[in-house]
Amino acid sequence: MKQLAILGSTGSIGTQALDVVRSHPERFSAHILTAGSNAELLIAQAREFQPDTVVIADERKYEQVRDALADLPIKVYTGEEALCDVVAMPSVDMVLAAMVGFAGLRPTIAALEARKPIALANKETLVVAGEYIMQRVREQQVPLLPVDSEHSAILQCLVGDFGNSVEKILLTASGGPFRRKDAAELQHVTPADALHHPNWKMGAKITIDSATLMNKGFEMIEACHLFHLRPEQIEVVVHPESVVHSAVQFCDGAIKAQLGVPDMRLPIQYALSYPERLGLSGERLNLFALQKLTFEPVDMQKFPCLAYAYEAAHRGGNLPCTMNAANEVANLAFRQGKIPFTRIGEIIRATMDAVPFDNQVAPDVYFATDHEARTVAEQLIL
Ligand code: NAD
Ligand code: MG
Repeated sequence: MKQLAILGSTGSIGTQALDVVRSHPERFSAHILTAGSNAELLIAQAREFQPDTVVIADERKYEQVRDALADLPIKVYTGEEALCDVVAMPSVDMVLAAMVGFAGLRPTIAALEARKPIALANKETLVVAGEYIMQRVREQQVPLLPVDSEHSAILQCLVGDFGNSVEKILLTASGGPFRRKDAAELQHVTPADALHHPNWKMGAKITIDSATLMNKGFEMIEACHLFHLRPEQIEVVVHPESVVHSAVQFCDGAIKAQLGVPDMRLPIQYALSYPERLGLSGERLNLFALQKLTFEPVDMQKFPCLAYAYEAAHRGGNLPCTMNAANEVANLAFRQGKIPFTRIGEIIRATMDAVPFDNQVAPDVYFATDHEARTVAEQLIL
């Protein structure tokens, strides 16, 4: 029985992780549940799963959660610091990092320091601090399992081939909702258009990142760190059907790919049960119904965020952190209707040019850079 700490249990990944727990009660228990501010759902989850502890990060919601769970022996904490404390509890066997954005970095580092195996959905952690995180993963000898579907696919391809040399990764991308739009049309797309992803139902922030292809840039950086590859070894392949979840090309030219219907429960469950596979009910891929799979190159002129990510990956240091912070600010401003879609990339570019480069591998540098880059990006929006 694995006792899980699920950070971000009320989100898209968190709720699907709880589906996995629900279908394998003999294997997993939801030992700790945490949410940002969705008190109602956290309360409902706590009543169903009877965790040991819950954390509501938003302090204004603390009393509501505490009072609603007063009849149950569940500990209730609040605040960001509590997130770091609970992951280190001795009774926690694995941490699922499924918070969104830079906010996931600190608790993920806390889990690493406490030597807890980590199932990582929070890709921003590796974008911002990949070098540091992977160094600590090696030093602490802590398993770090990817939840992102592409990286789970890559891991599934590498199983049985860990000693063999990889030539490149074929990182598949749906292309997002604007694959067919030309650059001029992109000026006028709305948040509602961008929030309508063709194949995946995800949280709002990552759905916008998928529309700009910033998400694919993040995933390229994530893959470099997880699998010790150079940026030029990661090739983005637009594959609108989202059936091939990614592929690995080995030194002999052999390509292994992982295929399936788009369902995040599989990569979530695989990260929790690795190296074992557990049963998962649901739709199966029908190749006869599908008939064909299509692949096309990516247009980085139209989607400059991907090009910025390659630049950030090559230069390293705090540049990916700067890029991430600017993206978080611009992504939110677009969702709030404050800036047009094409301005997201412009703000990221200008912020990357403005914040001083720093090559030190240290959490303090990332926190300082994140703060500075947000300030710069916010001023660009005013
Ligand atoms: P979401 O917005 O649906 O959920 C985010 C969760 O984090 C919620 O539970 C929220 O309460 C919590 N949270 C947000 N801010 C917080 C804060 N400051 N402090 C504490 N908790 C906070 O997001 P999601 O789509 O589930 O994505 C989560 C992560 O997983 C992201 O990093 C995303 O890139 C990654 N990811 C998601 C998917 C997907 O299918 N949704 C796929 C691959 C990777
Ligand atoms: Mg992905």
